[in-house]
Amino acid sequence: MPELKDQTYWLEKARTLPLEGRAFIDGAYVDAQSGATFTSYSPIDGAPLAAVAQCASADIDLAVAAARRSFEAGVWSAISAQARKAVLLKWAQLLETHTRELALLESLDSGKPIADTTGGDLPGTIYCLRWFAELIDKVHGEVPAIDPQFFGTVTHQPLGVVAAVVPWNYPLLMAAWKFAPALAAGNSVVLKPSEKTPLSALRIAALGLQAGLPAGVFSVVCGDGQAGRALSLHTDVDCIAFTGSGKVGREIAKNAASSNLKRVWLELGGKSANIVMADCPDIPQAARSAAAAIFANMGQVCSAGSRLLVQRSIADTLITELLQAAEHYQPGHPLDPASVTGAIIDSVQLDQVCRYIEIGEHEAQLLTGGRTLTLAGTGAYLQPTIFLAHDANARIANEEIFGPVLTVIVFDTLDEAIAIANQTEYGLAAAIWSSDISTVHNATRRLKAGTVWVNCYDELVDMNFPFGGFKASGNGRDNSAHALSKYTELKSTIQRCR
Ligand code: NAD
Repeated sequence: MPELKDQTYWLEKARTLPLEGRAFIDGAYVDAQSGATFTSYSPIDGAPLAAVAQCASADIDLAVAAARRSFEAGVWSAISAQARKAVLLKWAQLLETHTRELALLESLDSGKPIADTTGGDLPGTIYCLRWFAELIDKVHGEVPAIDPQFFGTVTHQPLGVVAAVVPWNYPLLMAAWKFAPALAAGNSVVLKPSEKTPLSALRIAALGLQAGLPAGVFSVVCGDGQAGRALSLHTDVDCIAFTGSGKVGREIAKNAASSNLKRVWLELGGKSANIVMADCPDIPQAARSAAAAIFANMGQVCSAGSRLLVQRSIADTLITELLQAAEHYQPGHPLDPASVTGAIIDSVQLDQVCRYIEIGEHEAQLLTGGRTLTLAGTGAYLQPTIFLAHDANARIANEEIFGPVLTVIVFDTLDEAIAIANQTEYGLAAAIWSSDISTVHNATRRLKAGTVWVNCYDELVDMNFPFGGFKASGNGRDNSAHALSKYTELKSTIQRCR
């Protein structure tokens, strides 16, 4: 990680940072064919950053056609896994060299603290790219033991054209979770970043070309839901990998079904339960971890621990510790390296979170926070907010808020806690804090969640672990070797030998 510098350095660098708003199609930056643009604003102070190409169906067609051409030509899909690995590693190296520039772009476009983008988003993106680059020449097929008159293999083949549609909360990282395995497997990729945070994806496309990605293998198209919709309906896209809201995920699945039955992978929302039993090994640590679980990245995290379930006998102690821990997450200017949290992405999201705070004020007890703050001349900053809900069926205890709002629920028995944890439509993540191994085994087995943490929350970032959800949190998994299979077809080849 580079030395963090101070706020003056980042503000000065922001003034001179080149911003590219054109789409990247077939190896070149291009305007939308219509010439239309939209403005990307910084959540930090509401200032306009760049005019960005508003891609429509015609632009999507061009990007998909370039992806198809490159795929069929075999310039990427048919080269050796070692050659693909070398290019992806070079790309990762270029991202590392440009960490400061990319981290600043990410902070300007998303309002995330510069300490997070330099220390988390960029290293995480680079790690992901390197991990899949390193994996791809170690993937083996199968040779089943069959009737000796025959010889057969089971092999993985790339799918073809993969569309990746991603959100704004970790713009580069969420993109990398899709494009790294998809490219490693030999596919050509068309990436559509969120219209709220397109700039970092556009910048890394040029670095990919510089690293040796052939033209057409990695394109970036910009625009809102209409551009994503065009990808989901496109009959020459073989797979769409999506991270975002359940509402859009459902629409994408329908569009895929009604067009060419392209493969659909969905990473959707969450309302994750963080359960603290009375025999928790370290209550102050559980409180600090619970605060980080919901307030990091301003709560704009799909796997945020947005529900804290605490056993009655330790509730008062834990809540006291939690209120202290929450103070650490008061927002600051995102370009101040000392800031732990920054701005909410935009006024639409802020209004949604504030509506939930209003609902919470009617159905639960506000313990702290709940107010917006003005920083850098705008009011897009929100205090860390904690409610105590007396009814586990309260809306704020079941619906995804996607902001720095925690709902605490007190329970009496483990069975009750698990029933509450499992009662939402989601199943992305959960945690259990206990010193008793039987309680831990019981809970980890019964919690309906793709990831379950024990005596910690979201601390280990390791690509070996699949990430994704049960139930309405989606299907398939990002990360780990399992993610690679999402971007390949299995082929059975059977040969008669005599
Ligand atoms: P969103 O669903 O509004 O948008 C996500 C992406 O889909 C954007 O690029 C958007 O332009 C595009 N889009 C919008 N309408 C579309 C349509 N009709 N067809 C195709 N594409 C369309 O989500 P968001 O507000 O960007 O992100 C927040 C949501 O993402 C939350 O629900 C959060 O939980 C979820 N999320 C999930 C994960 C995960 O890994 N499970 C990770 C991060 C965020």
